[in-house]
Amino acid sequence: MGPNAMNESNDPAERTNSERARIADERAAEQPLLGCSICLKCSSHRTIVSGKGSVFMLCQSDETPCDWPKYPAQPMQQCRYYRSE
Ligand code: SF4
Repeated sequence: MGPNAMNESNDPAERTNSERARIADERAAEQPLLGCSICLKCSSHRTIVSGKGSVFMLCQSDETPCDWPKYPAQPMQQCRYYRSE
């Protein structure tokens, strides 16, 4: 049994939101376009993993203009709305 075995369930239904977010971010970090994106370190991001395993970066900032894309083009190198976590 590994060191994370006590904290990480294999049953997705039993995982906490923070566990799910951490696992999704790990998946994003493995993606060439997302792993180097500033969004991954921004407190406004949410990583979405589809049922087919595709990984998307959702911007949930409430400071962006209304025409700001929900899924910004990646990799995002700079962003004026970036917030550190
Ligand atoms: S605010 Fe900018 S850096 Fe943060 S998630 Fe949105 S697009 Fe990415």
